[in-house]
Amino acid sequence: MSSVRIRLPDNSEKTFDHEPTVLEVANSIGPRLAKDTLGGLIEGESEVVDLRHKLKDGQKLKIVTPKDPESLEVIRHSAAHVMAQAVQELWNDVKVTIGPVIDNGFYYDFDSPRAFTPEDLEKVDKKMNEILARNADVVREDWPIDKAIQTFEKMGERFKAEIIRDLAAKGEKTVGIYKQGEWFDLCRGPHVQRIGQIKAIKVLSLAGAYWRGDEKNAQLQRIYATAFNDKKDLEEYLRNLEEAKKRDHRKLGKELGLFYFHQFSPGGPFFAPKGAIIYNELQKYIREMYLKFKYQEVITPQVFDVDLFHQSGHYENYRENMYFTRVDERDFSLKPMNCPSHCLLYQAEKKSYRELPWRVADFGRLHRYERSGVMHGLNRVRTFCQDDAHIFCRMDQLQTEIASFVTMLNEIYHQLGMDNYIIYLSTRPEKRMGADEIWDKAEAALSDALKSLNLPFKINPGDGAFYGPKLDIMFVDALKRPWQLGTLQVDFNMPNAFNLNYVGEDNKDHRPVMLHRAILGSLERFIGVYLEHTAGHLPLWLSPVQVAVLTVTDRQLDYARQLVQAMQAVGIRAEVDERGEKLGYKIREAQMQKVPYMVILGDKEVEQNKVSLRLKNGQLIESLNGQEFIENILQEIRERRLESSFLVASKNHNQEANNSSI
Ligand SMILES: [Zn+2]
Ligand SMILES: [Zn+2]
Repeated sequence: MSSVRIRLPDNSEKTFDHEPTVLEVANSIGPRLAKDTLGGLIEGESEVVDLRHKLKDGQKLKIVTPKDPESLEVIRHSAAHVMAQAVQELWNDVKVTIGPVIDNGFYYDFDSPRAFTPEDLEKVDKKMNEILARNADVVREDWPIDKAIQTFEKMGERFKAEIIRDLAAKGEKTVGIYKQGEWFDLCRGPHVQRIGQIKAIKVLSLAGAYWRGDEKNAQLQRIYATAFNDKKDLEEYLRNLEEAKKRDHRKLGKELGLFYFHQFSPGGPFFAPKGAIIYNELQKYIREMYLKFKYQEVITPQVFDVDLFHQSGHYENYRENMYFTRVDERDFSLKPMNCPSHCLLYQAEKKSYRELPWRVADFGRLHRYERSGVMHGLNRVRTFCQDDAHIFCRMDQLQTEIASFVTMLNEIYHQLGMDNYIIYLSTRPEKRMGADEIWDKAEAALSDALKSLNLPFKINPGDGAFYGPKLDIMFVDALKRPWQLGTLQVDFNMPNAFNLNYVGEDNKDHRPVMLHRAILGSLERFIGVYLEHTAGHLPLWLSPVQVAVLTVTDRQLDYARQLVQAMQAVGIRAEVDERGEKLGYKIREAQMQKVPYMVILGDKEVEQNKVSLRLKNGQLIESLNGQEFIENILQEIRERRLESSFLVASKNHNQEANNSSI
């Protein structure tokens, strides 16, 4: 046989006289690497392959070890087998079905004659750890399909037998079987070499499920769990899970009196006065940024003749998510997106090349139908508004516009304390419209704009929309959870659908490019994400109540009211707690409400005409001049600072000897 060459990440090569497995390549590099090997990544392929996978001549291989994030998929996949084995060792009448890897973990669906209890989950956890300690070798065998069907049928594993019969119907002749000790399962892999390579597992929760997701089929019990390469990683994940429960925006929303839901409007959030303050402050901020980045705001209708959505393609491609109504014997729809109305507005006046780029922003309310099962607090709602804008520009303006968008996004995220984000560039999908040279230009404009700003980005090959490539911005929150908020999409389609033109320098008609872009995305969803990111501790400028004035006794009430009036007069959201409660109680209340500043007034403060300030961290700053205090706060609000200026001042004071890098 001729020689087979496998390329490695450092561009060196290994030569074999046969097609080697990933593990053989690892062995040819060194025994330690081979011992740690969990799988392989072949250049140009996105999925991890099994370490037993045979490689072809010329392929470039990266060996996956516990250091690589991709290894989690392999160990979680293997841990799902361990869970199935554990359950069957505990209860031999339970039948197995499937156990896929999901975000942050995996689950397995079981057919059990009895309902699992929380105590059962503890038993499963214990048994799984026992199986890890046994450290069985994992062996792959390929079985003729008939043997596989007979074996699983004899075992009473009717779900597995059904899966294999389906594979047979598709023409498969053999199936992969993975064995660990006595236990085995049908599987494609990838799997570990030895069960002991799974270092940390945790059984998490229980839920109901149906075979193949169909309510008409057998009801199953789903056990969720997770696995990591390191006990420390597992502990951090579990801590974050606990913290996430505390920060759940639905819980915070209620505690802070921000928003509510009612059965009369499923998926329709009601923003209470305090929540509306956050909403409006965000809009106010974005409006200032529109001014700075030269966007113009427009207001467009809510309800349109369905013909508009035939023209835009929404009716054909997006109908299931739209709301319809009939008036004057015409069919109307609530708009699910602003783009079609902005195209109409573009057409309203003839445009010349001098007027481009034409940037129009719209906080218009949108309605999109979501199935009730997927709605989740503010994260998934049926009515919302976005910081949505469309840019109509010439092809030669594309790169500048993209760069300007990313600059604006960076400034806004930084201002909000959201510096951890990842930019994804999604390129042309297989099914697409438009000539390849236009795609070349658009993709190049996107990557050149990012490069010109020195911003790192990742490529999602083939993940663009059919009408153009796009940027997706994933914000990573304080608990390391990714959220897609911002987006920029290049669109060659809609300008065609609406026959949009501009008069060029040559006096001829030309077609503009359209950009759809949002930075916060849905404001509803953003508020949910931001509440969880900050645990409800909003920066001063976004806080519904900025200053709570608390008196030691009723004797200070007059002074307190004057102070609050002075603050309100300059736009500070201040309140005096007039209840006849003890000071300690009022402080706790204000803390629960996460009010940034508490002003404490006793007799001394009244006599000296001063204020004492209590920060959220419990620190007390005494005898401040009232007017200076107000000016300080005003400046903090104007600059939309993330941290209290008083806190920074006291930190500096405490850490004088250390350094000044605050
Ligand atoms: Zn498997
Ligand atoms: Zn749009």
